[in-house]
Amino acid sequence: MRPKKLFLFLIAFFAVIVSDYGLTQNNYPPFIYDVYVLTDNNNKALPDKDIKEAIENAQEVISKIFGATLSTPNIYQYPYKQYFDMRLGEKIDSNIEKYRINIFNINPPVLKKMISSYKSPAFIYAFKGEVPKSDKVRYNSLIGTYRNTFAALQEIKDISGKHVITEENHYYSLAYINAMLYMDTNWDKSFNWTPKIYITNHIIIDDEIDMPVHTLIRGGLANGLSSLQSRSMIVSYYGLLNDEYIQKDNNDLVRFNRNKILGALIVHEFGHAAMKMPDEFLDNGSVMYPVWRFNYWEWFDNLTRHVTQGGAP
Ligand SMILES: [Zn+2]
Repeated sequence: MRPKKLFLFLIAFFAVIVSDYGLTQNNYPPFIYDVYVLTDNNNKALPDKDIKEAIENAQEVISKIFGATLSTPNIYQYPYKQYFDMRLGEKIDSNIEKYRINIFNINPPVLKKMISSYKSPAFIYAFKGEVPKSDKVRYNSLIGTYRNTFAALQEIKDISGKHVITEENHYYSLAYINAMLYMDTNWDKSFNWTPKIYITNHIIIDDEIDMPVHTLIRGGLANGLSSLQSRSMIVSYYGLLNDEYIQKDNNDLVRFNRNKILGALIVHEFGHAAMKMPDEFLDNGSVMYPVWRFNYWEWFDNLTRHVTQGGAP
């Protein structure tokens, strides 16, 4: 290569590096995760190709809004309950029950703690557009919601007609799942430890004493959970699959959009687990804005319309 050509080549080379850097602001080493797809055969489930497409969508959005790279993960499949039983065979915190709400017997201290949040921004978000004005009305409506939510949870059945939430099992329990995510730090520390993205069709109910009020309002169901300690995360698409509006047509466009929404749910948890970002209650264009009730379409539509830095895909 002649000197002049070399010079031009170098300019072009640096221009590519600079523009690439400016575009993605990629200051992070790639995030390496394993994906564990935990499927419960007693519920509707997405086909493997949809899960794969959702992960690819998440990778694209993570790069676009966080300027970070989620490396293409290895994907493993397990039956949900079998995996859950295996993991809870490990030693878990024996105090776990102290942090749980007993769905079958609401206890007054928990109720009191929950109701103390009735003036917080999270409360305003949870009841948006319909926040009762007086403290007394707010207080009473929260108590009413609490009681109705836990009564309704006891009625949920799987496709075989069995109750999903019983006093005998913990498969739905966010408190137990949280313990499992926490234990991922030690799970395979003897060899190279990789944090995990769990993707499941099983219902997850927030039964921790500090359940946020927006989760209570949508019936106690959680779309996901992250562990800051282990950086592992879980996303449940149970709510997405049971959304009547999303399910009414099973055409290609619905599939395409559903995989985009599941991708965005993964990005939300990635924001917590990998980027250490909290929930954002004021900017509905931020991917850290939680899904309000179960309006997945509205949530995703806001994300795609407000293309803001640090916020939307
Ligand atoms: Zn969140």
